[in-house]
Amino acid sequence: MLPLALGAFAAGSEAGPWRAPVAQAQGQAPVAPLRSASEVTKTTITRGDALLREWRGGVMGTDFQLEAIGVDVAELDRILGLVLAELRRVEDVFTVWRESELTRLNQRAGQGPIAVSREVAEVIATSIECGRITGGAFDITYFPLRPLWDYKSPVPALPSQERIEAALRLVDYARIQVDLEHNTVELPAGFCIDLGGIAKGYGVDRAMRVMLEQGLENGLVQAGGDTKALGRKFGESWQIAIKNPRRKGEVFALLPVVNQCVQTSGDYERFFEIDGQRYHHIIDPRTGWPSKGCMSATVIGPDATFCDGIATAMCVLGPEAGMAIIEQLERVEAVLVGMDGEVHLSSGLKRSGIPSQVDKRP
Ligand code: AMP
Ligand code: MG
Repeated sequence: MLPLALGAFAAGSEAGPWRAPVAQAQGQAPVAPLRSASEVTKTTITRGDALLREWRGGVMGTDFQLEAIGVDVAELDRILGLVLAELRRVEDVFTVWRESELTRLNQRAGQGPIAVSREVAEVIATSIECGRITGGAFDITYFPLRPLWDYKSPVPALPSQERIEAALRLVDYARIQVDLEHNTVELPAGFCIDLGGIAKGYGVDRAMRVMLEQGLENGLVQAGGDTKALGRKFGESWQIAIKNPRRKGEVFALLPVVNQCVQTSGDYERFFEIDGQRYHHIIDPRTGWPSKGCMSATVIGPDATFCDGIATAMCVLGPEAGMAIIEQLERVEAVLVGMDGEVHLSSGLKRSGIPSQVDKRP
């Protein structure tokens, strides 16, 4: 793994007693729907002399939540402004929905090694590492399959097997060449990559780096299902919610974390249904069809980039094969919810009190 983790996180975590949720964390507003990119809602919670400043808005196609604890609102706003600017910068580099460094790289597939920025080379190298560790379940070259499963289409349809097979010929992360000495990446002709399964985690790592550089001791960065928590919230662990994958708006477990990342992937955010079957945004690179491994996968560890890639792969692999990999990874834990709603916990979470089954009644 690349050394993307930061000091406080690399030094190890302090996990409190893991338990099931009793209620939404006190004093927190419910998660608001996605806003326009420029709109940011700012709120303050005070506890004695300390205050928690919270910013919410939209970035990278999802909601963000930034929290910083200190004594001076203006100073916390200054820091959160820098943190948000960093998230937006990462979005601009890694987006595939408008011109970016990544789209320029994709356009030059088949033209030999292409010079890229250090961070693009590193995130692609980490993605390849996630691919290697998960036996190809995480594969950033899955992208030619994506238009075949268009969950945004007003009339979704299933693709023909011929189209799936044609796209699958362009899927193989092992054929990407990354040179970290010269910061180049080479894609075979016809290939294109999408870092949607890992770039949010990278954004969260970078945003937390800004918090640390600015001397913040307690704060949190969340973008969609990707979270990194620094220090504590008014002396207590941060409580990170895992959503019930089948009951919108419900939380099925709260994870108390200190200096840790929590990344959740699932089949419930972006999908369409035909004849009662769900077709969603995580693709199994072995078959070309939406994955059927886990309805929700939460991976906990020191590095958000890495955990983000692994969490996506867990949705492909399912609880048994997935957990066998998690148990091999140092300082990484997981909560995997199988397609039957059964909850599988890694060895470090066995006595956590997390429920063994999610309630999937409609
Ligand atoms: P996440 O929310 O981190 O699980 O990422 C989901 C996103 O990852 C999707 O919207 C796609 O952009 C991308 N993706 C889908 N399937 C795969 C896969 N098998 N390997 C890598 N990335 C994928
Ligand atoms: Mg991911």
